[in-house]
Parts: sequence; C-alpha cells; structure tokens
Amino acid sequence: MSVGPRDAEIDELKALIRALREEAARNETLLKRRQQVEIELLRAETLPELFGQATAGLESAYHLEQVSLLLEDPQHEIRHLLIGAGDHPEDFPDVHFVDTLVGLAPQLAALHRPWLGAYVKPDHQLLFRGPRAKELQSLALVPLRRQARTVGVLCFGSHDRERYTHRMASDFLQHLGSIVSVCIENGCNRARVLKSGLADYLTGWHTRRYLHARLREELARAQRTGTSVACIMIDVDRFKEINDTHGHLGGDEAIREITSRVETQIRASDTTARFGGDEFALLLPDTALADAAILGERIRAALAPPVEIGHGTRLAVTLSMGAAAVQPTRSDADLKALADRLLADADAALYRAKAAGRDRVAVAG
Ligand code: GH3
Ligand code: MG
Repeated sequence: MSVGPRDAEIDELKALIRALREEAARNETLLKRRQQVEIELLRAETLPELFGQATAGLESAYHLEQVSLLLEDPQHEIRHLLIGAGDHPEDFPDVHFVDTLVGLAPQLAALHRPWLGAYVKPDHQLLFRGPRAKELQSLALVPLRRQARTVGVLCFGSHDRERYTHRMASDFLQHLGSIVSVCIENGCNRARVLKSGLADYLTGWHTRRYLHARLREELARAQRTGTSVACIMIDVDRFKEINDTHGHLGGDEAIREITSRVETQIRASDTTARFGGDEFALLLPDTALADAAILGERIRAALAPPVEIGHGTRLAVTLSMGAAAVQPTRSDADLKALADRLLADADAALYRAKAAGRDRVAVAG
C-alpha cells in the first residue's frame, strides 16, 4: 500500500504532537526545578544558609560556572549581623560586601531590570572572584531591589557564550531577584532581632555579657590556629564634665559619635562592646599586642577632630585606652580564666593610661 498525501499529513501532525508533548514535559521539569530553587531559598533560616543557597545553591541548580552575590553594606551592618551570630563574612567568598555598587561594572549604574550579555573582562572582572571567572563567556546581572532601590546584584556567569544574550527574556530572572531580595531582608531582620537582646540600645554595640561569651570562642579559635587575640579597653576622658555641661542627652550624643568614629577604624571581624557608661571594649581576633597598640593610636587620631553633639556644639574629646593580648597554647585548658585575665590586663593598662595623664594608649605587661 502506498502512502498518500493524507497519510503524510497525519504523520506530520503526529510528529508535531510528539514534539509539543516533549516540550510540555520539558517545561514542566523546568518549572518544577525553578519552584524547588525558590523553596530552598525561602527555607533558609539564617543569613549564612541564605548566602549558601543564593550562590553555590543557584550555581548547581542552574549548572552555572559561577554565581556571586554583591550586597551594598555601607555601614557594615550585614557583616556585623553575621559576626554577631558567630559567623564570618570571609567564609562566603562569593558574597561581596561593598560600600556602593556603582563602579563595579558599567551596567550597575542604573540596573532596574536584569541585564544579559557577553562577559567583557575589563567591565566585569570585579564581579567574580577566583580562577573560574577567567573563562566566563556570558553573564546575567540580576538586580535585588527593595523600596525602589537596588541594594544588591546576583551575578550569574557561564562558560557558554549563548547562555545569556541580549535577546533573551529576563522575566524569570527578575522574579528570582525579587525572591532573593525579600529573603535577604528577612534574614537581616531575623538577625537583628536575635542580636537585640545582646546589644546596647544607645550604640548598637554588644553588651559585656556577649563579649565574654564571644571572647571564649575567639580564644578557642586562636588556640586551634596558633594566633593571638587582643583586647582594647577604652574609657572616655572626663566624660562627667560633658554630662555636667551639656546634659545627659548631650553626653549620649557624644557617646554615639565616639563609637561610630571607633567603628571606622576596626575590622568587620572585630567585636565591639559597651561595658557601661563611658567604658568600651574591643575584641580583636588574630591581632598581636603591637598591632593593637597601633590600632589604639589610630582610634585616638580618629577622635582628633571635634565631636559634634547637635545644635552646632563641638567638643574636644579624648580617650584613654589599655591594650592586652594573649596567644593561647594547646595546654591552656581553662579558657574562661584566660579570658578573665586578658580583660583584667587590658583594664590594668587602661588604669595606667588614666594615671599617666589620659589621652593615650597604655600596653599591658
Ligand atoms: P575619667 O577621665 O577618669 O574617666 O573621668 P570621667 O569623668 O569620664 O569619669 P567616669 O568614667 O567615672 O564618669 C563616667 C560618667 O558617665 C559618669 C556617669 O554619670 C556617666 N554616664 C554613665 N552612663 C551614661 C549614659 O548612658 N549616658 C550619659 N550621658 N552618661 C552616662
Ligand atoms: Mg571616663
């Protein structure tokens, strides 16, 4: 029997139906995968989990060569939230905390919708770290927007030139960006709430109780890594006079300004605590005594310009500081005693700085 024109048409239709079925099945798989990715992102309970999902998680779900997450963090708040919860920003090499997104890539100056296109090294090399970035061929830049502002960018890098091109639809990426930005905001809020029980209301610095707990953890880490931990105790000179002349509120304003100047000098991995009144402590992991003394001098220099306390009132404020450090050995079994001794040594040094005329850094030993 010969195959007539009608049979040929039927075969063609059958093939079409098969192709459509296959495409529908592919789309369904794709949709399921996308939903699964979203569920994983929404499920993340902490910032570290979320950062893992938004970088390595998306990288493996979408078979990408590299995913990085840029976050605007001008006040170092997100980094301090991480540290406050016992994590370390350096543990997330694909998350880049930056003061401003502008300048990292030309497309970031006004990124309202995802940008897809070719990887151009001079334009995009700051977006990805590590050796894998070398062979990238195309990329997608997905803005993370909150309250009409771009607060971060997800960067998807592929070795495939055709993976991301200008012609592609970006609706799905925009949707993914909305989810990630909400998740990050939630994660930060959760971390803030957790931290609030252990933070000082006036300065946002940690409390003494927190510093004690943290110090023991840092000593244990230093014991493992063979590094030293330093502590600087700070007390404002003649603070009572500021209170007496400008009132309690003026004093509070001065404390806020003093602590924010100190913050400009320290690392994200340092812990700051208000011990009460006008006394503060800095916990400096991986820092030797000589470097703590140098930091103390930098803090003094940061306080050299007068402190503004509102209504145009400017005050000359000086600080006295005591620095101490310890390098735990493997045989140090009682880390609590070691922590107490470090704080006592820094306190004794502070006392000597006061006795020697204030406005100086004294070093323990
Ligand atoms: P010294 O150089 O010896 O440190 O002199 P000082 O005047 O700073 O002495 P001291 O440290 O003993 O004084 C601290 C003052 O801080 C006394 C207290 O009334 C005031 N104070 C404590 N807590 C607060 C606070 O939360 N806000 C304000 N404005 N003042 C506070
Ligand atoms: Mg004082």
